[in-house]
Formats: sequence, structure tokens, C-alpha cells
Amino acid sequence: MKARAKSSKTPYPIWVYGEYITNPPIRPKDGAVRPEGHYIDKGGYPGANVYEADMTTFCTQTAAVDRYGKEIYTQDVILYETQEEIGYFIVENEETAVDVVWGEVMPLNGLQAEDIKVIGNLIDCPDFIEGMGFYRDNEIEIPYIPLLNVQMSAYPYLKLECTKCKHTVLACQYKAKCKDCGGFLKTGFTTKVYREKEKAFA
Ligand SMILES: [Zn+2]
Repeated sequence: MKARAKSSKTPYPIWVYGEYITNPPIRPKDGAVRPEGHYIDKGGYPGANVYEADMTTFCTQTAAVDRYGKEIYTQDVILYETQEEIGYFIVENEETAVDVVWGEVMPLNGLQAEDIKVIGNLIDCPDFIEGMGFYRDNEIEIPYIPLLNVQMSAYPYLKLECTKCKHTVLACQYKAKCKDCGGFLKTGFTTKVYREKEKAFA
């Protein structure tokens, strides 16, 4: 099974993509035998690129891809975008995606690849659903967020404005709540700002 998970035995956790295995081959560099467990094998020389997996971060690969041909995994956050509308989906399992704002369940293969883009995942952004719920419940326009972590990308930083203490921070990663007061953050990555940037990229 193709999967991804964060490594549990590296100095700090990294995403590892590959084959999920429970009985890894011996480690070629020292002949070490590893116990039965949860591992991701990145491939290459047998046993050389095997990582112990933190199963709380385990996601399986689905058959779907986004508009850039990127494989879609369970727990991914997907931006759905057409001429008329935007929306966000969470990939629940290999078959279904759930509309984050309205709760509608969709077959994953009912979303056209050209209308969807993977923007992050719930492991890295666990409060995304809660944040979107705040916009919906307070009738605030759902923000346009083309990427949940803009570090290593061409996008500008996200502008997060606290609805309670009014503090504004620039951040490279989306988060739902203000760390000072716990208030919900409005994401300043508005359609307008983004559209201007998009023109600049074009
Ligand atoms: Zn605040």
C-alpha cells in the first residue's frame, strides 16, 4: 500500500512517502534486523530507505490526482476552484471527500482533477476545519487560501488578523487561532490580494 507518514526516529519528524510495510528487510549498512512494526519504505536499495512511521500521521495514497498531477492522500486539504466558486474538501478515505464548510460528502472521483489542488493536510494544519467553521458560523466570507504553508513557495506570507485582540501577524503557515488570546484569526490572503499576486506571477 502506498502511503505517507512522519518518521518517528529521526531527529525531528519528516514526511516519508513510499510503501507501507510491517516487516522491513535487514538494514544493509550494518545488517541490523528491525522488529515487526510500522514502516514506510521509500524504495531504492532493499532496506536502505526504511523509516519507522508515526502512525498518528499515517495517510494512504488514493487513486486521485490534482490539477498538477500531484497524488492525493487521505487527510489532504483540497482547494476546489472553478470560474464560479471556491470550496475546501478534506479527503476522508480513499473513496470520499467532505466539504469542509458545508459538510457535504462527495465521492473523491466526482471532483474533476482540473478543479482541485492539494493545499496541505490536516496533520500539519489540524485546526483548519475549526477555522473554516468559524467563518461559516459568523457569516464571514470564506477566504481564498491557495496554500496552507507558503514557506518554500512563491506565495507571499499569510496575513492573520485576530478577530478578538485585533493583533495581526504574518505567518508562513495557516492557523485558526491567535496564540495570544485564543481568538479566531481571519486570513488576510484575500481573493483580491491573491489575484493581484497572481497577475504578477503570470
Ligand atoms: Zn488575539
